[in-house]
Amino acid sequence: MSGPRRHGFSKSRITMFEQCPKRLWLAIHRPELAQFDEGAQGRFDTGHKVGEVACALHPEGVMVEAEPDLVAALEETERLLAEGHPGPIFEATFSHEGVLIRADILEGDGAGGWRLAEVKSSTGAKDYHLGDLATQLWVMGEAGVSVSAAAIRHVNREFVLETEGDYRGLFEDADLLDEAALLALERPALVAEAREVLAGAEPERDLGDHCNAPFPCEFSGHCSRALPPGPEWPVEVLPNGAWKKWAKKGVVDLLALDETTMPKPREALIVAATRTGVPYHDREGARAAMAQWSWPRAWLDFETIAPAVPLWLGTRPYGQVPFQFSLHLEQEDGSIMHHEYLCCDGSDPRPGCAAALVEAIPPEATVIAYNAGFERSVLRALADHVPEHAAALSAMAERTVDLLPITREHWYHRDQRGSWSIKAVLPTIAAELDYAALEVKDGGMAQESFLEASDPATTPERRWALEEALKAYCARDTWAMVVVARRLAGQGD
Ligand code: SF4
Repeated sequence: MSGPRRHGFSKSRITMFEQCPKRLWLAIHRPELAQFDEGAQGRFDTGHKVGEVACALHPEGVMVEAEPDLVAALEETERLLAEGHPGPIFEATFSHEGVLIRADILEGDGAGGWRLAEVKSSTGAKDYHLGDLATQLWVMGEAGVSVSAAAIRHVNREFVLETEGDYRGLFEDADLLDEAALLALERPALVAEAREVLAGAEPERDLGDHCNAPFPCEFSGHCSRALPPGPEWPVEVLPNGAWKKWAKKGVVDLLALDETTMPKPREALIVAATRTGVPYHDREGARAAMAQWSWPRAWLDFETIAPAVPLWLGTRPYGQVPFQFSLHLEQEDGSIMHHEYLCCDGSDPRPGCAAALVEAIPPEATVIAYNAGFERSVLRALADHVPEHAAALSAMAERTVDLLPITREHWYHRDQRGSWSIKAVLPTIAAELDYAALEVKDGGMAQESFLEASDPATTPERRWALEEALKAYCARDTWAMVVVARRLAGQGD
């Protein structure tokens, strides 16, 4: 590093410092080490969309552009305030002692002051939001701006879209002025501390809970490289937090446990299967559990989208809307017919989805899902929304059974590493059906592909490719269930 340098801060950098001083140090000095998780872009896009809608609710508002640079934004803000602009002002920009903030929304309070609103895509104010507000209050206070309210403007989960494009009521304010003002008093010391850290060598900090809260840290790969290699089968393999009681006793290696004396059968079988490499498999139990399912069997999986800003009439923020299903309909003689539905034209996918389900699933079929609570809730929500198919869809929800608990009770291969998700189980049963070879590999990617395919700006060629990738992914989910069930029952042994 060259000589002393004064670092500019934004409110997000200060939040970063509060999460972990080392994270900020790495972000400034070693940004090339960052590895962002796959959901980072999606979170950014959601925040951007929510911010856009919050501003659009004030058509009289003025945006302070950061063009050609932030100096111009500072000057433009100063000009607007000096000229007595009544607001709202979006992205008003202030700086103090090298800390630069852009306030999401400033609304005039009618008494010469301003109400500050920080827009968030969450459905409530979170603890870490307070720091954001405090930084803004401190900088704006030093800039001589009077602030009479400081709110987190978050999404109102009770909002229902009744009229296309009318998002009045989508947001609620949580006014945190008093708490944030108190915290603002500590900002100068905090910023001084951050500067001191940045001027030094890379701080020492152990990995811990702070690495995932409030945000997953993009430097976890870098920080964990320094750790000595752990055991091949760490005790954390034991699911649902069962490992914690062993960790408290100092157990690090799963194979240090003695399965013959472990009180919980599930934990004992995980240890045994891991030690021997022989999967646990109770064929008779699995067969008996599935024997009660009548024929035909409808293996069903939905892909859904839950946008923060509702897209279709009658939907709420973060309400699950199915845009796709895959269905393998299996007869008692083993013959199988595949059905699917996918709607990427931007219209409400629910009526078409409901009609396609009713057409494809016979009234006497057993509907089978993996982690069926989700499919049942989607079917019930569809029944509420599409009255002409309500009875059939409600009956389907009642007839939906779950393959997950049967798998959990009757199969474990050590490569599942404590998980019975279909993506963990499938490679242990049919390695050739691994999801890694698919273009869309998980639910998050399916949602991103759906949004891109539904975007009017997407070319027909690209939309077709996305649709094909989505169909291949969803079909894999239901075919995986068929394969897992057959293997559980011992077919092909
Ligand atoms: S991984 Fe954890 S310890 Fe390392 S920089 Fe990030 S938050 Fe800090």
